[in-house]
Amino acid sequence: MEKIKMTTPLVEMDGDEMTRILWQIIKDELLTPYIDLKTEYYDLGLKHRDETGDQVTIDSAEATKKYGVAVKCATITPNAARMTEYDLHEMWKSPNGTIRAILDGTVFRAPIVVKGIEPCVKNWKKPITIARHAYGDVYKNVEMQIPGPGTVKLIYTPADGSEPQEVTVHEYKGAGVCQGQHNLDDSITSFAASCFEYALDTKQDLWFSSKDTISKKYDHRFKDIFADLYETKYKEKFEAAGITYFYTLIDDAVARIMKAEGGFIWACKNYDGDVMSDMISSAFGSLAMMTSVLVSPHGYYEYEAAHGTVQRHYYKHLAGEETSTNSVATIFAWTGALKKRGEMDHNEALSSFAEKLEKATIDTIESGKMTKDLAIITTMENPTVLNSRDFILAIRETLEKSL
Ligand code: NAP
Ligand code: MG
Repeated sequence: MEKIKMTTPLVEMDGDEMTRILWQIIKDELLTPYIDLKTEYYDLGLKHRDETGDQVTIDSAEATKKYGVAVKCATITPNAARMTEYDLHEMWKSPNGTIRAILDGTVFRAPIVVKGIEPCVKNWKKPITIARHAYGDVYKNVEMQIPGPGTVKLIYTPADGSEPQEVTVHEYKGAGVCQGQHNLDDSITSFAASCFEYALDTKQDLWFSSKDTISKKYDHRFKDIFADLYETKYKEKFEAAGITYFYTLIDDAVARIMKAEGGFIWACKNYDGDVMSDMISSAFGSLAMMTSVLVSPHGYYEYEAAHGTVQRHYYKHLAGEETSTNSVATIFAWTGALKKRGEMDHNEALSSFAEKLEKATIDTIESGKMTKDLAIITTMENPTVLNSRDFILAIRETLEKSL
């Protein structure tokens, strides 16, 4: 078979530890034998980030703006222990945070659903994708411990010198606590735009939920911004695509989710998204089966696995022990990026290959061959547990049959 050609490069962001090992095997066994792979390579491994003063992370995000599509391997976010382990010059910020700040996007997390790995919620048949607004609210709050009786007020002083506005938060009769939160119209609008775009892109309904009945100004602003953008820019496109936008209260959304079949996107405010994304991923089975895509309102896409670098497995690997690390989410990061590249370049062969690779991955698991994390939770009897490399080789074997 002749290798599939690419016209535009993908931005490739390499990473750390066990996922870096998987990255190379995936490329060698599942991609380069079939595709004349064209990537612009950025090494986001911690050592190289440190050597470049983290410039490589910024460059990789800028390249994503240039080419539109990136695929990223999991990376270490340094902490005190990593400072010593890698003898770092600085405790570099999370690459994902840096990239998101440059691309201004929203992260969508979606489970990969396969037969034999049944969600805890038995009626969930299709993936539930969570979109988390990643700016403001409690994550950028200010707080005060109130030692005793007194008054706390919110004061807004307009920059143009006009009359300040003030409201009393509470007149304390005794000790307590207080918190100030904010958000920005621009950030909410960009979040809403990413959600509408991604819903159209994936042809799924979009839900958005907040607590606007209680929070009549703050949460209500979110609701209004979503509604206005929908009416002015997306309503016709949604109708043409046969999908719907649905707003409901957060508690109603939670109740409906438990009874739903899945197959839609749930846009959440920052805190709701933080909490609910962990619930959804655990209920769907495994973090190793969760993909993640950063979608910017300007139409840039960055695909990755939702899990980290699987440090514990990496140390086993370094010690020469066998590992059985699940590469599914990392494979789907590649296929997601390749499909998007194919779509943007009208490269049918590339998109169709990516779809075949996804199917081969799912078929391999459904035939009973899987990594240890899945073997523990599968409803299948006598699954075959494969090591990290052999699982990828098993996928290759399934793939070969479909080409
Ligand atoms: P992790 O890498 O997600 O792994 C936590 C545990 O989950 C593993 O020890 C393993 O459990 C299980 N697991 C996760 N992915 C798996 C896979 N593909 N196959 C099999 N099991 C899997 O989280 P972490 O150990 O807390 O973080 C390690 C590093 O990753 C940290 O330096 C963190 O900064 C980084 N991180 C990066 C990203 C990112 O780049 N997006 C996201 C999160 C974390 P068992 O050990 O029980 O087998
Ligand atoms: Mg969380």
